[in-house]
Amino acid sequence: GPCIAVQDLDKVYRTRTGDETQALSDISLDVRYGEFVSIVGPSGCGKTTLLKILAGLIPRSSGTAVIAGQELRGPLPQVGMVFQSATLLPWRTIFGNVMVPIEIQGRERRHYEQRARDLLQLVGLDGFEDKYPHELSGGMQQRAGICRALVHEPSVILMDEPFGALDAMTREYMNMELLRIWAESGSTIVLVTHSIPEAVLLSDRVVVMTPRPGKIAEIIDIDLPRP
Ligand code: ADP
Ligand code: ADP
Repeated sequence: GPCIAVQDLDKVYRTRTGDETQALSDISLDVRYGEFVSIVGPSGCGKTTLLKILAGLIPRSSGTAVIAGQELRGPLPQVGMVFQSATLLPWRTIFGNVMVPIEIQGRERRHYEQRARDLLQLVGLDGFEDKYPHELSGGMQQRAGICRALVHEPSVILMDEPFGALDAMTREYMNMELLRIWAESGSTIVLVTHSIPEAVLLSDRVVVMTPRPGKIAEIIDIDLPRP
């Protein structure tokens, strides 16, 4: 079966005052193992909501969502999520932040320390391991957040506008590195991006969403040679 299987998924946000927003309506999407899927669409179409549901961070209102054969009821250990902004813990060093998933999942620290260093080097943060988040620029913090999402070698990587805050050159470099990580790890990737050229460059398929309520308008197969 597919790696990610979403069927007839709806999401309604309800506030304490009784207001309701239907953020997602009737979302059905299968993602194959090892596939790279991008999600594009205007602000408010539910991209972040869909990723948060797949990450197990918020509940769906109805429908089914299965990752690697497991029905979603919370975060799964084989899933890594990169957020729009890095949300690092200010009292921990960069290295300490990258190791957070290892500790949360109760994995053996020493098995992942080298990988954490390698990832930090990959994103150009070698030498910053012992610094604190406030000592780094926003873009550097975001790159540390990417390392944190990848440190436990997740087989599914969910990314919400991960490079949005980076300058154009770093962004292009990170896209190339992302392709390399993807090719080497065989991971399944779902990327939310505002950039259609980026989606086309990186993905096997592009999911186009429309707002009010958030729906899938179209799914486009991309068949281009990769760099
Ligand atoms: P995006 O860049 O995806 O458009 P937003 O600015 O819409 O992000 O949302 C930023 C954060 O605020 C998200 O975590 C989202 O869940 C939350 N959020 C967005 N709209 C509302 C809302 N109406 N009420 C409460 N939280 C919201
Ligand atoms: P996108 O990521 O495509 O910008 P979002 O998933 O952030 O879209 O938001 C989809 C819709 O849900 C928007 O109308 C937004 O205002 C609403 N929304 C998002 N988060 C919340 C929240 N925590 N509470 C209430 N409404 C929300």
